[in-house]
Amino acid sequence: MKKRKDSYRKSLIPNLLIGAHQSIAGGIHKAFERAESIGCSVLQVFTKSSNQWYAKPLSDEDITNYKTAASKSSIRHVIAHDSYLINLCAKDITILKKSRDAFQDELKRCEKLGIRYLNFHPGSHMGVGEEDGIKKIIESLNLVHQQTNGFNVLSVLETTAGQGTSIGWRFEQLSEIINGVAEPERMAVCIDTCHIFAAGYEISTKEGYEQTIKEFDRIIGLNKLVAIHVNDSKKGLGSRVDRHEHIGKGMIGKNGFRLLVQDARLIHIPKILETPKGKDLKEDKVNLCVLRKLAIKK
Ligand code: ZN
Ligand code: MN
Ligand code: MN
Repeated sequence: MKKRKDSYRKSLIPNLLIGAHQSIAGGIHKAFERAESIGCSVLQVFTKSSNQWYAKPLSDEDITNYKTAASKSSIRHVIAHDSYLINLCAKDITILKKSRDAFQDELKRCEKLGIRYLNFHPGSHMGVGEEDGIKKIIESLNLVHQQTNGFNVLSVLETTAGQGTSIGWRFEQLSEIINGVAEPERMAVCIDTCHIFAAGYEISTKEGYEQTIKEFDRIIGLNKLVAIHVNDSKKGLGSRVDRHEHIGKGMIGKNGFRLLVQDARLIHIPKILETPKGKDLKEDKVNLCVLRKLAIKK
């Protein structure tokens, strides 16, 4: 009996693709060391400062450093997160133009580095309404995709909490965007557990969790899911407020994350922590440890 339990443990844990968003201080390639030092097998980074419009173009040296670090690393997947300033359905035409240019630049940075996934927030309609916002996002994506013809990097829509006027808090909205763009094959989706819970998807109970995954599969398709942001939520179900919490310490709780990390349908999907950080990597380490323990069947 004991032996069987151990073998299960060994078989499941190495397959668990978990990691955390890491700082790129000192160069993007430095994120690999940080991630590996705490036992991540997947990684998320910004490819530039997340709160500035413009970035120095990547030099040949930056690219070489990154590729060398990536090839030596045990990290299996890298996901890029776009700048928080970008709003692909901005009402202000200047911001919309800046957002489209910046998003195009982010796609180019990813392509140069060989990063397959660029995660982005669909956008905030700023009062014009969800339908018009969605149309604008589709228009923006068509434009940037045309300008980056033939790229391998996928534009990965992140589910949102629906805070303020942000779009993407219903699976239907993401599906509308994917089906509306000229090249849907360039689109994918990232589920953020904190965001969907705050948006009203009850993932903390077995029934609610199953219902949510079923709904995602029916409306978007699990084949479109390429990443999961694993965050607990400080705020309640349907609060529409986006506040991340440490795993098991928030309103989703350990049960929801146990269901997630034990879900065989999602075993191959990279799972990334975006939980609060302190000065060092201790918090990430603790959260990774909690997830690993939850992955052991009980
Ligand atoms: Zn995000
Ligand atoms: Mn997220
Ligand atoms: Mn968030």
